[in-house]
Amino acid sequence: MAAYYPRQSSLKTGLRCACPRCGQGKLFTGLLTVRDRCLVCDFDYGRLNTDDGAAFFIIVLYSALILPLAAWFQFALDPPVWIHFLVWIPVIIVGAIALMRPFKAWLVAQQFKHNVDDADITR
Ligand SMILES: [Zn+2]
Repeated sequence: MAAYYPRQSSLKTGLRCACPRCGQGKLFTGLLTVRDRCLVCDFDYGRLNTDDGAAFFIIVLYSALILPLAAWFQFALDPPVWIHFLVWIPVIIVGAIALMRPFKAWLVAQQFKHNVDDADITR
């Protein structure tokens, strides 16, 4: 008899970087590497593949947030250029990395939810 797994919220599993099927197992090994299988429910993550999807969305969405803030910073305070480098480079790097894990986990959960099979794309 197959085990029953109640439907998980893709938003919750994404934010927790958890398995989209059981909601318990950790999705990543390392920073952004998706495990081969779930350690709790043995779900095969190999059929779910987000490629650079998370990076694309983070670049587009995060830059849409950062660019207006940088423009406001410039027009409101008129700082020298080195202050911009000092402020925005760490904000961009740390923010993008911090958003990448939950966003990639959310994309994996969305693929699981909508039964996207990477092998089906070529058919
Ligand atoms: Zn699992």
